Amino acid sequence: MMAKIQMKTPLVEMDGDEMTRIIWKMIKDILLLPYVDLKTEYYDLGLEHREATKDQVTFDSAEATKKYGVAVKCATITPNADRVKEYNLTEMWKSPNGTIRAILDGTVFRTPILVKGITPFIPSWKKPITIARHAYGDVYKNTEMVVPADSKAELVVTDKNGVETRSLIHEFTTPGIIQGLHNIDKSIASFARACFNYALDQKKDIWFATKDTISKKYDHRFKDIFNEIFESEYKERFDAAGITYFYTLIDDAVARVIRSEGGYIWACKNYDGDVMSDMVATAFGSLAMMTSVLVSPDGVYEYEAAHGTVQRHYYKHLKGEKTSTNSMATLFAWTGALKKRGELDGLDELIDFADKLEKSSIQTIEDGVMTGDLAALSALENKTTVDTETFLREIAKRLDTMMK
Ligand code: NAP
Ligand code: MG
Repeated sequence: MMAKIQMKTPLVEMDGDEMTRIIWKMIKDILLLPYVDLKTEYYDLGLEHREATKDQVTFDSAEATKKYGVAVKCATITPNADRVKEYNLTEMWKSPNGTIRAILDGTVFRTPILVKGITPFIPSWKKPITIARHAYGDVYKNTEMVVPADSKAELVVTDKNGVETRSLIHEFTTPGIIQGLHNIDKSIASFARACFNYALDQKKDIWFATKDTISKKYDHRFKDIFNEIFESEYKERFDAAGITYFYTLIDDAVARVIRSEGGYIWACKNYDGDVMSDMVATAFGSLAMMTSVLVSPDGVYEYEAAHGTVQRHYYKHLKGEKTSTNSMATLFAWTGALKKRGELDGLDELIDFADKLEKSSIQTIEDGVMTGDLAALSALENKTTVDTETFLREIAKRLDTMMK
């Protein structure tokens, strides 16, 4: 019997809902606890406990993440009208991810897990592309109006002394529409720092693109803020790490992304990130293979899977039926968090364990043992579809060999 790997600082553990909650416990029991003397500060973000604490637990878990620096989160239900009935809620509690992101002021980075046998739709893509999406403002906080014929639309800004600055949008002779957008320098700066920090952390190049040739004030401001922060705070560290910051126009970026072999971080404005993250995720193959990490501008990390609670599979599970739910993204949330904790605390053994756990899970799929969602995509000749728990036990077999 090998001695268990010791930890110094606890991870903030945020438990969640439905099928991913079942997987959460299985990952811990089958793959983590046999090897690691797991130290966590546990927060139950399952909907029942959010209701019982009036959502205080979500706020507490975010504050704990600020304190300790690294969290791992299970997928959680964002309540809608159906869920209010199903769980007998006293309120339609807000999305935990939204609450946590607001407290940490973070940016979300999404990266696909690549395995042999599942080929991206873009044949040149050999390495993952990480998408970072700015999570504030633009069209997501807009004001819109329908404008009748024979109207004049203007932008008006009133300063604290009541002085107005006006700018004509359009003289409407026929009916039309207008839209007012905004963003805030501080939010753009946080986004820039989160992106540059993560690029250094991952030792990957970072790309950023806007339409500054057309939007000479709005988009140009994004370009300028990124550039100023890069030159004054990051350039030397990027040079030392051998990575680059690359700025271009959004249409040029899209063309280059398609022709590239991947391996970089692509920072996107809010709308571009919304559209491009679904494009990139789909082109890489599967939502169940997409990892996600929230990085705050002061370097706090929260790891999770990009998918939801896989509700349909959970109802099957409740009926006693076997499910074949893919646990890769949730497992990589754990390995990401353990590696980061290991890095911060100087625990090489913990980093090595997390690496081996990732390798053994990829090995399992490349050996042809996988869940149904991947079996449907995989080009491997000999493949076996296994249920949720068997997949984890197959990983455990390979991990056990690697750990000896
Ligand atoms: P979902 O849980 O991501 O699942 C959508 C479908 O994608 C599933 O029904 C399944 O397809 C497939 N899928 C997703 N993950 C899978 C996995 N690991 N293995 C195998 N198949 C997988 O999205 P949803 O059903 O729209 O949302 C369910 C709940 O999750 C909602 O209450 C929502 O609020 C919440 N949610 C939470 C987060 C988060 O916490 N970060 C993110 C998104 C959604 P098949 O059914 O065809 O097998
Ligand atoms: Mg979207």
